[in-house]
Order: sequence, then C-alpha cells, then structure tokens
Amino acid sequence: TAHISLRGVTKKFPDRRNRTELTALDGIDLDVAAGEFVVVVGPSGCGKSTLLDLLGGLTTPTSGRILVDGKPVTGPGLDRGTVFQQYALLPWRTAQGNVEFGLEAVGVPRRERAERAREFLDLVGLTGFEHRHPHELSGGMRQRVAIARSLAYDPGVLLMDEPFAALDAQTRESLQDELLRIWERTGKTVVFITHGIEEAVYLGQRVAVLTSRPGRLKRVVPIDLGARAD
Ligand code: ADP
Ligand code: ADP
Repeated sequence: TAHISLRGVTKKFPDRRNRTELTALDGIDLDVAAGEFVVVVGPSGCGKSTLLDLLGGLTTPTSGRILVDGKPVTGPGLDRGTVFQQYALLPWRTAQGNVEFGLEAVGVPRRERAERAREFLDLVGLTGFEHRHPHELSGGMRQRVAIARSLAYDPGVLLMDEPFAALDAQTRESLQDELLRIWERTGKTVVFITHGIEEAVYLGQRVAVLTSRPGRLKRVVPIDLGARAD
C-alpha cells in the first residue's frame, strides 16, 4: 500500500469564453499516509474530479508535484486503481470477465486470473454472480464489480470518484459499509471524492474540504472514528 504527497499542485484550464485561464486547483498541499482513508469534499466545480484525474495520471498539473510512494505520477499506472461514478464495465463480459480484464493487461496467467477474480468477487459479496453480465446486475452490484476489478491487480492506492452517487440511498449506505469492511481487510490507501458531507464524515479518517473558484484546500478535518456507531 502506498502514500501520496501533493505539493503546491495547481491546475489551470484555458477559459475560451473570456480568453483567460480558469484555476481549477490552486496550490494544493496534502499528504495521505499509507493505508489511510481520506475523503475530499466540496461543492460542484471546486476541482474534485480534476484532483482525482491528476492522481490517476489522466492529466498533469500546471505546476506542483504529485508523488505516489515517492515516485512522480507520469500517467495512468497499475499502482493506482480507479472507481468512477459510472460503472465503466464491459457490457459483453460477465462479472468474472470484467475483473479478469485488468489482470490480462498485466499478464497474469489465465488460471491465476480466474482464481483471483473469484477471490475479489467474493470479497465484494458477489459469489454466485460471477457469470452475470452487467445488465443482469443491479447498480450496486455493478459498482461492486468495479471495486473488485480495481482491487484485483493489487494497486497501492484506490481512487474513487463519487462511486455511489448514482445509487439510491439504501444501496449507497450498504456499499459504504462494504467499502469500509474491504478497506479494513485490504489496508489500501483510499482517496474518495464526494459532494456529500455525510458520506465524507462517515467514511473518512480525514476529510479534506475544498472551496471553489479557485479550488483551494480550506481545511483538513480529522474524524473521531471512536464515534462510529456500529
Ligand atoms: P468538481 O469535480 O468538483 O465538480 P471539476 O474538477 O470537474 O470540479 O472542475 C473544476 C473546475 O474546472 C470547473 O470550473 C470546471 O468547469 C473546470 N474544468 C474541469 N475540467 C476542465 C477542462 N477539461 N477544461 C476546462 N475547464 C475544466
Ligand atoms: P462533475 O461535477 O461530476 O465532476 P463535471 O460536469 O464537472 O462533472 O465534469 C465532467 C467532465 O467534463 C470531467 O471530465 C471534466 O474534466 C470535464 N469538464 C468539466 N468542465 C469542463 C469545461 N468547462 N470544459 C471542458 N471540459 C470540462
């Protein structure tokens, strides 16, 4: 499992309408320790997705530095698994096939792929659903498949961009508990993005609050997990 360090991370986009620049993120300093669960919260447009895109290596900072386990992020990599709001599952593949997909890319042998896919589907509570296609699964189940797929190749960091936002409240709550259980079992570093403050304080060990225009880190709030009533 990996630690993350952001130093003075700024991201600007060209703003064509005003022929100026839009500062999506401004001078973000943040450290996430190995095995820590940090939630980033803030209003729409404060740069949450941009921050996750930067961590995922889908885009590069205008200035500043992002290190994962001391190494600069230069692009997408298998040291970081990502779960998006939209499931991004392959519709023609089964749950099992979707989890195996990422393992094929890293050259895991066929038999081990199947075994590992079953193991991670079990971890997310989908034993018995291995051979279903995405359209035969509920929204919550599809998101479980996406989580299993991200974890299967053992990334040091799990990046989650509003993964439960499209789910109904009841499914969201059960997936939140499921995620906490998985996090406790795997010890992964998690960076979780949400605009829901209740989700943030329920899941996070620390909550990083962003303000918009420009996106600045307002404060980082530790959560007293002793107060988790379960
Ligand atoms: P959030 O996820 O918190 O809603 P985003 O990271 O999507 O915020 O966006 C932050 C700001 O950056 C917004 O003002 C948005 O319009 C702008 N932005 C995001 N991506 C781009 C882009 N590719 N080009 C131009 N502006 C962008
Ligand atoms: P969210 O609020 O869920 O992050 P957005 O509508 O802000 O969704 O962004 C959706 C996608 O569009 C993101 O990939 C973001 O980078 C891109 N985007 C956001 N604003 C702009 C913009 N002004 N110009 C170009 N792309 C943008």
